[in-house]
Amino acid sequence: MTKGHTRALFSGLVWRVKPIANVLVPRGCIVCGKTTDTTVCADCRTTLHYIQEPYCTRCGKPFTTGSGVSHVCYDCIKGKNAFMLARAVFEYNGAAIRLIHRFKFGDQVNLAAFFSDELLMLYEVYFAGLGIDAILPVPLSPRRLKHRSYNQSHLISTGLSRSLSIPVLSSVLVKIKETQPQSRLRARQRQDNVKGAYEITDRQALRGKSVLLIDDVITTGATVNACTRSLLRAGAHQVYVMAIALRV
Ligand SMILES: [Zn+2]
Ligand SMILES: [Zn+2]
Repeated sequence: MTKGHTRALFSGLVWRVKPIANVLVPRGCIVCGKTTDTTVCADCRTTLHYIQEPYCTRCGKPFTTGSGVSHVCYDCIKGKNAFMLARAVFEYNGAAIRLIHRFKFGDQVNLAAFFSDELLMLYEVYFAGLGIDAILPVPLSPRRLKHRSYNQSHLISTGLSRSLSIPVLSSVLVKIKETQPQSRLRARQRQDNVKGAYEITDRQALRGKSVLLIDDVITTGATVNACTRSLLRAGAHQVYVMAIALRV
């Protein structure tokens, strides 16, 4: 990684604070604009689909049958996923898509608190007691970070860190390769796209640690698996994953 990359990365991690009146006070439902006291109005909440059982007990992907009991899925049995456990809050459909798009591409950084609260509940159910030492956001490339001026996963990680008193290691895992947006690629292309894209800058900080990786959307798992493999190769003891949404 060049010095220029490093500078861009670090400058981007400190996300630029916007005028407080524009950021902290929701004028209405962030999805439909209707006047409401909450971030998402009651009507839009009905199109937010929380992931429910039955799902894979390892990767958290819901089973399309919608009935029966949770168990380990075929992909996890075949060793597709390198992480120990993954869970997401919402199915990636309905209002979840619009919310995440506004958060990622629409400068709606105030949504970080909403998502952090949702992830905190998930953490309490599945991750509390696992001995997690550090929280790591999935990084953006320096160019993407410069363009967007904030990393949405870093914002959520900071909120979680405050609530859980677990530190965020924001510069240990970095993205060194400019990749195409995963959303435009097929499953096999996604794996190739992120191959060699992530690098560890401080192996000592990871050695023997159990870490929680934070991403916005898990689609095929290519991104979180690429990050997980880099972390494990660098000496992390265990990698867990939490995301806002998972594509079903
Ligand atoms: Zn609404
Ligand atoms: Zn699975």
